[in-house]
Parts: sequence; C-alpha cells; structure tokens
Amino acid sequence: MLANARRGVTAEQVGTLAASGRVIAEDVAADRDYPPFARSARDGFAVRAADLPGELKIIGEVRAGQVFDGAIGGGEAVEIMTGAPMPRGADAVVMIEHTEKAGDFVRVGRKTPGDNFSPQGVEARAGMVVLETGRRLGFAEIALLAMVGRECVQVFRKPRVAILPTGDEIVEAGQRPEPFQIRNSNAWSLAVQVERAGGVPEVLPIARDNYESTRAMIERGLEADMLLLSGGVSAGKYDIVEKVLAEMGAEFFFDRVKIQPGQPLVYGRLEQGNARDKQFFGLPGNPASTMVTFELFARAAVELLGGANDAPLPLLRSKLSRPFRHKPGLTRFLPARLSLDGSTISPEQWQGSGDIVSLARANAFLVAEADRESWEEGEDIRVLIKS
Ligand code: AMP
Ligand code: MG
Repeated sequence: MLANARRGVTAEQVGTLAASGRVIAEDVAADRDYPPFARSARDGFAVRAADLPGELKIIGEVRAGQVFDGAIGGGEAVEIMTGAPMPRGADAVVMIEHTEKAGDFVRVGRKTPGDNFSPQGVEARAGMVVLETGRRLGFAEIALLAMVGRECVQVFRKPRVAILPTGDEIVEAGQRPEPFQIRNSNAWSLAVQVERAGGVPEVLPIARDNYESTRAMIERGLEADMLLLSGGVSAGKYDIVEKVLAEMGAEFFFDRVKIQPGQPLVYGRLEQGNARDKQFFGLPGNPASTMVTFELFARAAVELLGGANDAPLPLLRSKLSRPFRHKPGLTRFLPARLSLDGSTISPEQWQGSGDIVSLARANAFLVAEADRESWEEGEDIRVLIKS
C-alpha cells in the first residue's frame, strides 16, 4: 500500500509561515556554518583549560553581538555571556556559578577543553542539507527555515481527496431524519481526518445503494486525486460498492483486515482512461470503523500522496487502570481514556462500532492484540492516540 501510495505531486511556492503544516518539496541547505562562530553556551568565563585549577586574571569582557579583539594568554580569562563568540586562545567556558571573583581575578576549579561552548559548524556545515524533500513542516522546521534566511519555500500541492458517503438510510446533517434514517456523520469525520493528513476534502452527495447512483458518484469522485467511500462494503444484500468498482475494472489489493472495528476494509486502484490511475478506499460504514480504518490505513496514503516521506502512527504504551479481556482473533481498537500524564489507560463503555458518543468521549484507542485474551490491572498495553 505504501509503495502504491507514493506519487509525484506538483509543488508551489509559499511564504515560510504559510508553509506551516505543509510538506516541503525541496532540499534546503545551511547558508553558513551553524553555529557560525564558536559560541558560548553559558554566562561565565572563557579560559584555557590547561591553566586550571587556578586563579586567572580577568582581561576583559565579551557579550552576545560583540567580538573580543585580542586573545587569552597563559593565566588569563575573559568574562563571557551566553551566545557570545569565544575569544581567541580560549578552549572552555566556566559557568559563573562555579567561580569566585576577587577584584581583577577569578578563582576556577578543574575544566576540560570543550566545556560549555559549541565549536563553529558542529550543528551543520555550510551547504549541508538540513531539511529534505518530504518532511512535514512543524514549528522546529519553520524555525530552521527562518534560521537559514528563507522567507519562502516550495511545498507540495495538497492532494484532493473525494469523500463519498453511501446508503439509502443516510440523510444530510442539515436535514430532519425520519425515525428510520441516520444523518451523514462519516463525511464529516473523514473531512477532518483528510484535512489533518494534509489533503483537501471534497465531499460528494450521498450515493444510494443501487448501481447507477453509486457508479455515477464514483465517477465524479475519480476526478479527485484519491477516493474514499464510506459504507456498502459489508456482506449485506445492498452492499454493492465492491461490485460497482469491480465492473469499472478496479484492481483490489485487499478487501478484509483482521481488525475490529473495520474488518471489511477495501483498498485498490482504478485505471482512469489515459489519466493516472487513482487509489480508492472502501471504508466500512459504521462510524467507528470509518474513523479507525482511516487512521490506520488511509491517513498514510493521503500523507504520502501529499509528498510526505513517512506517516508514523502515534502509538505508545500505557498501564491499564483495570483488568481487561477480549475475544482473541482480531486486533481491536477500543475507545479509552488516557490519563493526563499518559501513565494509565481506562477503556470507555461502548456499544460497538456505531457508538460515536463513546468515541467522542475518548482521547485514545486501546489496542488489544489479536493473539492475547486478557490483561491484568497495571499491565502494559498499546495505545493509539486519537488526535
Ligand atoms: P454499511 O457499511 O453501509 O453496512 O453501514 C454500516 C452502518 O453504518 C449502518 O448502520 C449505517 O447506517 C451506518 N452508516 C453508513 N454510512 C454512514 C454515514 N455516512 N454516517 C453515519 N452512519 C453511517
Ligand atoms: Mg450501507
């Protein structure tokens, strides 16, 4: 799936701040050495380590933004501030807290050459690539662009992701449903998830559970860069999404995964005339199934289509706040609440894959592995962050 998901995407130039959250489409190199000069990491005294321990004569001062002209000779020290360039001859900085000043002299204990300063170029050499194509730009990456003097940057165009809800019982969220009808919520969760994965969601009208309606909407959806369908992929008599896709010539890579919620997940690709073929996901329609399968599978595909070179899952481990059991055979992703410091996890009450109320209360999924039946209170279990 990952290999298939990687596609060429066109790039555009944007201002560096506007690039926040986008994927960079160029390699950015350091414009000079970093740090550009040997830089003190502490307020204190620049010294020659060979003179220590001992009492040194203070011959001057250097602060950030200035240069000390002259050099440190035997038995001498220069008072130095954090961020200031090291005076010539100095090979260590002693923190002010570790010195005793008396008039023009300062008493200092033992020091090793290299202490408390960063030599020129240790972080990056001029010309070295510091940001590679495919990295998503967060606050540190934007800071790095500012550091090397970039006011604009090439980023990948966001992929357009069509979202196609299906189902005879589904009505739009703004409508008043009959007692036997359900409002379309999947298109909404998916729109948020697509956006967070770096895509532009394009929500289509609801397809009805018949061949003509479903085919017409799939054709519209294939105008986007990727198509996400929700519903119609289970074993029911009117679950016709796979059949329609098959008749349109789709190639299926898989149509079932050993997880719950989300077992009947479909992934494949469709040739589109002479246009490039498009990937699609047939996501199971139960709201929890749609959300979980998007996070586990489609999110990575959208990220990669948008030029990102990876899309790791936010998985961690935590300790169960109470004993837990499940029926082995499928890996389960169950709504749960992670404590503020992440140290403990408690499963939420939930009524199964249709229960959005419980999912909205949760801040994580507890991941119960398929080959295990029970966990004691306090035991480690895997957790998927629900962002
Ligand atoms: P399906 O996968 O089509 O069999 O649908 C499974 C369950 O999910 C049914 O209870 C549907 O009513 C519900 N469902 C399907 N699509 C949506 C949707 N867009 N929004 C909310 N619930 C849905
Ligand atoms: Mg349906």
